[in-house]
Amino acid sequence: MWEPVIGLEIHIQLQTKSKLFCSCKNSYGDPPNTNICPVCLGHPGTLPVLNWEAVKMATKLATALHCRINPTSYFARKNYFYPDLPKGYQITQHKYPLAQDGYIVLRSGKKIRIERLHLEEDSGKSIHTEEGTLIDFNRCGVPLAEIVTKPDISSPEEAVEFLKILRLVAIYTGVSDADMEKGNMRCDANLSLKPADSGSLGVKTEVKNLNSFRFLARALQYEIERQRKLLEAGGKVVQETRGYDSHRGITFTMRSKEEAHDYRYFPEPDLPPLVLSEEFLGKIKEGIGELPWEKKSRFVEELGLDEDTAWVLCGEKEMADLFEETLKHFPKPKELANWVKTEVMKLWKEGLRVTPIQLTKLLKMVEQGYISRLKAKEVLEEVAKTGKNPEEIVEEKGLLQISDEASLRVIIEEVVREFPDKVEKYRSGKKGLLGFFMGQVMRRTRGKANPKIVNKILGEVLNGK
Ligand code: ZN
Ligand code: MN
Repeated sequence: MWEPVIGLEIHIQLQTKSKLFCSCKNSYGDPPNTNICPVCLGHPGTLPVLNWEAVKMATKLATALHCRINPTSYFARKNYFYPDLPKGYQITQHKYPLAQDGYIVLRSGKKIRIERLHLEEDSGKSIHTEEGTLIDFNRCGVPLAEIVTKPDISSPEEAVEFLKILRLVAIYTGVSDADMEKGNMRCDANLSLKPADSGSLGVKTEVKNLNSFRFLARALQYEIERQRKLLEAGGKVVQETRGYDSHRGITFTMRSKEEAHDYRYFPEPDLPPLVLSEEFLGKIKEGIGELPWEKKSRFVEELGLDEDTAWVLCGEKEMADLFEETLKHFPKPKELANWVKTEVMKLWKEGLRVTPIQLTKLLKMVEQGYISRLKAKEVLEEVAKTGKNPEEIVEEKGLLQISDEASLRVIIEEVVREFPDKVEKYRSGKKGLLGFFMGQVMRRTRGKANPKIVNKILGEVLNGK
């Protein structure tokens, strides 16, 4: 038996207004090469000036991840040549990072330790086309927090859970929207296998650029199988950097240990040590706000939601916010949570939004029996698509539920007269036929009859009352 030993390295873009060392706009999706200047293009003679906003955000993230913040940290140059790195080096932190020794707790209670969190600048972006490679320098110098875990992760599932929680922390603290699709959260994973009964680690490989949760899981699954087969056939794992081909679902060799870069790190001579006062750190700590696991606990302890529901809501901050805002007007947490985690979430994933006011109005209409639960789902979708209020849609579509006992009784008596044989069977014990009669009433009212009231009257009529 083999045990996977997994560590992650994650880069998160910090959503500052400007870049890490110049005043260029930090903005995603602008026309190529429009947010650039001599500093981020690495022109000779230019000097970096540290953006304090980025320091605040990285410190906030590190604090939320339970890291120890180093009062003094240093910048370093990591030298390598690549077309999208015009300076020929990246300003990062090497021996003395901003923060160390943090952790995230998974739902199982397992703690995944974080070795370090440091600040560095992003590179530009190469865009490969048929005619050749184009370079967009807009991303050059965008602030990044790099987070490195200890090899505490034992399965692809744990790796994905860790990354999802990390994403939430970035979103809750407001430092990044950590959107893997846009590349503002990127993940590399290293993995080795060790015999289950052995304390010694195996040789690891690193898989680069896993840009979705699914790809992370698949690349790790593939790599576990590849290494297992290799080891069981008596072969050896080669220490190397691998890529992931998402179309073919395989990892492949990018460069071996021999070809590994020697980055010739040295202290960045153009930047002073980064010194953080106790007062600064205290202010950051105060300003952090509620973290995902704290919100989850509050939903469980104060609102009586079950763990799973609370996690589902807190797993998307927008949904948690909508839930809390709506709760002020519709104070039934369990019922509201059910609507949010199913119907509202489904629409939200399709890009459709409802406001707390719209949701409140709809749920009150259901509560008061004006519309059925089933119809309410249709109405909610229309609300999200059109932006209209629920009562307008109910009116337009004639969805008002029939709760009037007298008119329902007329319909029910008709149905009962029409099926005398079934009534007899019901009376002689086939109580399951109640569903048949209910169906008939619903058909006649086009699903608009209030099921509770129909149920009550049907019982009375069938039992000869
Ligand atoms: Zn610039
Ligand atoms: Mn890095």
